[in-house]
Amino acid sequence: MSAQTTTAPYTAAAVESRSYASAFRTSPFAATMPANIRLTQTTATGAIDILKILTAFAHGAEGVMVAWTGRATPNHKQRLLVLRELLHFVGCHRDRLAIVEGAPDEARERAFSEQVRALGPWSFGSQPVFGMNDALPAHGVGAHASTAASRALQNLAGDLLRSGKVAGVLAWGQASHEIQPMIARTPEQARRLFAGGRGYPNLATLLETVADENMAVVVRPAELACIDALREEGIHLPEHLFLIGQGAPRERCDALLPECGDVPGAMSGEELAAIERWPIEERAAFWSAQFAQCVHCDGCRSACPFQCYTNCLNDALTPHNGHTATAKQTACAHLACATRLAGHCVQCESCSGACPQAVPLYLLHQKATQVLASVA
Ligand code: SF4
Ligand code: SF4
Repeated sequence: MSAQTTTAPYTAAAVESRSYASAFRTSPFAATMPANIRLTQTTATGAIDILKILTAFAHGAEGVMVAWTGRATPNHKQRLLVLRELLHFVGCHRDRLAIVEGAPDEARERAFSEQVRALGPWSFGSQPVFGMNDALPAHGVGAHASTAASRALQNLAGDLLRSGKVAGVLAWGQASHEIQPMIARTPEQARRLFAGGRGYPNLATLLETVADENMAVVVRPAELACIDALREEGIHLPEHLFLIGQGAPRERCDALLPECGDVPGAMSGEELAAIERWPIEERAAFWSAQFAQCVHCDGCRSACPFQCYTNCLNDALTPHNGHTATAKQTACAHLACATRLAGHCVQCESCSGACPQAVPLYLLHQKATQVLASVA
């Protein structure tokens, strides 16, 4: 039986490994279990696809039990714990996702069904929420660097280019109405560069295109982490990079910009803490209003240096390039991305910066990183 094919509302679904499924179906109590418990078959033994769980939620399950007859691998369990906390963060109570190991157990399965029933429906409406963004700290995506930092960058870039030490300096510039990465190749062009702010594109993703040149690049903690990750994966980057640090560790950089202020990659947790202080119903209202804005343009995925992990928006969870997905379906798609990216995401906030609807995706990624660090 599949959760996706049923039209009747159900309060609990069990997403299980193959071995658990056959053990459940042959158990003496299988025939007497509440009708609202549906089994969703997995495709691989011993592994539960995160998408299976989220698809069950997106299609109306009010609770999901993930079960193995054996033991889950530590890595797999960590990812499930990340998902459970992300669900709670967006207003879907963590008790709606049970993670269990061992043979089917009638009392446990019934207790879970009752627990979910007691929680009631996971309400994720699309009602507008006024004033909640004001409750967040003022420094959101789009906060810009100080003028002093940009001036220092322009002077340094001009000197580097005049001396011939580098063939180009990669930072940011204004293109039409948007802030885009920009390579200055002359001292005159260097005067148009500016230092990075929150949500500005991650510069590291462009280094592959100038891999055979001597380059200087502005690195925030996020760019630095991304350069390390790309090198580890064997991606061809410029051999000699002159690193201009913006809030990055002094020992890793060839020069530092002054007065950098708040830069991405330095997670404060302040905004997460502010949201977590809201009652769960308010978090659900806040996030449903955010996800209702999503137009499934894929801009966030395209902006991510680790986009190979984020192909969740194109699959069965939500229609691509359409407006017909519910806020709950959209939330599930973005939670799938955030769960998969946990451990890879470098907190550059490029995804949020690229979003035409200003969906604060960076908060999901911060939360996923925070949870993974606590369970690893
Ligand atoms: S998911 Fe993480 S690494 Fe990817 S763009 Fe967003 S913040 Fe950057
Ligand atoms: S960039 Fe924004 S609108 Fe586009 S898919 Fe991502 S969250 Fe949705």
